[in-house]
Amino acid sequence: MSFKDLDLNESIQKALVELGFTEPTPIQKEAIPHVLAGKDLKISAQTGTGKTATFLLPALHKFAEKPGTKVYGPRVLVLVPTRELALQVAAEAVKFSKYLPKIKTVCIYGGAPYPIQNRQLSRPYEILVATPGRLIDHIERRRIDLSGVEMLVLDEADRMLDMGFIKPVEQIAALATHESRQTLLFSATLKGNVMKLAEKLMDKPIEIAVAPEHVRHDHIEQRIYYVDDLHHKFRILDHILNDTTINQAIVFTSTKRFADSLVDELLEKGRKAAALHGDMNQNQRNRTILRLRRGEIQVLVATDVAARGIDVLTISHVINFDLPNSTEDYVHRIGRTGRAGASGIALSLAAMKDKYLVTQIERFTGQQITTHTVPGLEPKARSESRSSRPGPSSRGRPAGGFRRGPQRGPQRSSRFSGGR
Ligand code: AMP
Repeated sequence: MSFKDLDLNESIQKALVELGFTEPTPIQKEAIPHVLAGKDLKISAQTGTGKTATFLLPALHKFAEKPGTKVYGPRVLVLVPTRELALQVAAEAVKFSKYLPKIKTVCIYGGAPYPIQNRQLSRPYEILVATPGRLIDHIERRRIDLSGVEMLVLDEADRMLDMGFIKPVEQIAALATHESRQTLLFSATLKGNVMKLAEKLMDKPIEIAVAPEHVRHDHIEQRIYYVDDLHHKFRILDHILNDTTINQAIVFTSTKRFADSLVDELLEKGRKAAALHGDMNQNQRNRTILRLRRGEIQVLVATDVAARGIDVLTISHVINFDLPNSTEDYVHRIGRTGRAGASGIALSLAAMKDKYLVTQIERFTGQQITTHTVPGLEPKARSESRSSRPGPSSRGRPAGGFRRGPQRGPQRSSRFSGGR
C-alpha cells in the first residue's frame, strides 16, 4: 500500500515524497482511513511507529479539502505531555503542510515567554499543539477559543496522566464543544485511567493496537552489561563510548544531578557531551537539541521526560546508564535510536540484582536482550546462563511493567579511569 491508496490530498503527497515517506507505517495504514471517516479512535502505539503522521495527515487532508471559514482558535488541538514532544509534533505539521501554505501551526508550552505565544495566538491558525498547563493559562486569559476544534488529539495520553494532567485535560476537552468533534487518543498502553479517560471523552471509539512486531523496535539491537558497582559501570561506559561505530549516543540517567555530574566527567575526558533535563529552561533545551542535530554533541546525557520527544536520526546508540523506572520508559528510551527505520543499538548497564527488571522488559517487548561482557571487565558476580529468554507465549502480552519507587541516582564516587 502506498500513500496514494490512502487518497490523501495531492499537496500532502508531494510533501511526503520530498520527505522520503514511500509507504505508510502499519499504524498509518490501519488508522488513517478511520480518521478520514471522522471516527473516534484509541490507539496503542509507541513513539517511532509514525503515530504523529497518523493524525496530522488526515487533519491536513481535511483542511485542504474543506478550508472552512476562518474563526479564531484552532480546528485541530493536539495535547502533548512535554515541550519536546510539542515542538516535534509542530515541526512535523509544518513539514507535512509545506504545500498547503495557508495552514498555520502554533505551538505553546510552559517555560517559554508569554508575549511570543500571545502574538501567535492573536493571528489566525489551524493547528494548535500544546501542553495542558500552559494551554489552561491561555484559556483563562481568554486568548484561546476551543469551540471550533474539530479534531482533539491526546498524544501520549498515558504520560499526560502520569504527569498529573488529568483535570486540565478534562477541562480542556469540555471546552472543545464543536458538535462533530472527533477525538483521537494515543497511548503506549490502553488500560486503567487511560481507558477511563477514553470512555469519558470519546464516542464509540475504534480501538487499534499496533501488532507487537511493529513496536518491538526490531531494528534495534539490545544488549545488557552486568556490573558490580558504580565504578565498574563507569569503566564499561568508557569502553562503550570508545567504540568507533558510535555516531551519537544518548546516555540515560535517573536523576538530573547525576546527569550533570556525568557530563562533567565526560567533558573532562575530552568528549563532546551535554546534559538535557528538566532543570534546564526551554532555551537551553532547544539549544542543546539544535547542537545535537548539528553534530556538535556526541554524547547527550538525559533524563526520561526531557528526552521523550527527541527525534534525531543520527543517534546510533542509546545507553541506559541507569535502568528506567518502567518498561514503557525503556521502550521510549530505546526508540530514540533507530529512527525512521534506521538501525540502532541500545545498551543497558545493570546490577546483577536488577536481573528481574531485565526479564520484565524482555517479557514486555517479547524480545531478548543479549548479555555482553567487555574482556577484562567481566562482572565478578557471575551472570547465570540465560533463563529469561522470552518464549512465544510472552509475545504481545498486555502492556505492563515494573514501577520501582523513585530511584536515587548513584553518587559520583569515582572517575572513569583507574583500576577497578
Ligand atoms: P513518530 O512515531 O510519529 O514519532 O514518528 C517517528 C519517525 O518516523 C519520525 O521521524 C517521522 O517523521 C517518521 N515517519 C513517520 N511516518 C513515516 C513513514 N510512513 N515513512 C517514513 N518515515 C516516517
